[in-house]
Amino acid sequence: MRISNIFAGSRPVVSFEVFPPKPESPVETIYTALGKLRDLNPAFISVTYGAGGSTTERSIGIVEKVKREYGVETMAHLTCVGATPESIESTLDKLEELGVENILALRGDPPAGSETFTPVPGGFAFARDLIGHIKRRNRFGIAAAAYPEGHLECRNVDQDIEYLKLKADAGVDLLITQLFFDNGLFYAFLEKARRKGINCPVSTGIMPVLNAGQIKRLTALCGASIPTKLTGLMEKYGGNPADMEKAGIEYACQQIYDLVRNKVDGIHICTMNKAEQTKEIMANLQGVL
Ligand code: FAD
Repeated sequence: MRISNIFAGSRPVVSFEVFPPKPESPVETIYTALGKLRDLNPAFISVTYGAGGSTTERSIGIVEKVKREYGVETMAHLTCVGATPESIESTLDKLEELGVENILALRGDPPAGSETFTPVPGGFAFARDLIGHIKRRNRFGIAAAAYPEGHLECRNVDQDIEYLKLKADAGVDLLITQLFFDNGLFYAFLEKARRKGINCPVSTGIMPVLNAGQIKRLTALCGASIPTKLTGLMEKYGGNPADMEKAGIEYACQQIYDLVRNKVDGIHICTMNKAEQTKEIMANLQGVL
């Protein structure tokens, strides 16, 4: 099913993100988590795509399993990193063959140590180009990334929204945001995006802070700011993993509760493949989600 049809029904649409285990870990580690995540009834599960296509086979294998074996609608992330139009075509052929109907079309990050993204000769420079390419095939629902605080290479939110509008107009039927911890920044972004004429559903990327060190690394990579309240929790509980996890889950639940009260289109939980913690969030929000 096209995920845009799910958003045509009741909202908020609750969905999960998982990532393929690293090549050196057995792929089976994800399947135990997926079984438990499926039991939480997400509307769909998206599967990330490793930098430089390093996890292509695994990503596609997991996407297929989510749909066929676990019976959950799925979305394959796909990037332009190291990809030519021909290699993208062969990935699209494969996804189509497997019955995958939804793609999150991304540019991908510059390689480590480089600040700029350089496409391979003949490759796509921006997600917008990949979206246009996928759109022409007319076989997939297409989602794209949005950045409530501006993308790292474009911290001017207004300018970033100008580019987002071009991307949306290229054929996007859903936006999923970068993770954020300050709902106020998301509401301000959404108002500007709507004023620009970006009308498709926008699902909010929520990542529970389960480990203070991991979040510091991640936010440095994606540019999400950490509100004082969360910094305080990290300072207070950072040295005690169990308490930090509890506080992080509680923070995520409060964030989601506020988003739902403000009638967001969707909640996309970055599960980090942690089924038990995701289960706890869903249990805490029973009756809300
Ligand atoms: P684009 O939309 O192409 O934007 C990239 C930059 O170019 C931005 O700074 C934008 O402002 C600028 N720009 C856009 N259009 C123009 C233009 N016409 N002229 C000049 N500048 C322009 N990465 C992975 O490798 N694998 C994943 O699975 C993955 N999943 C993600 C899921 C979500 C929900 C999000 C938010 C991000 C994800 N990423 C993933 C990270 C993503 O690949 C990076 O953030 C990447 O740096 C930008 O990708 P994009 O698709 O947003 O790029």
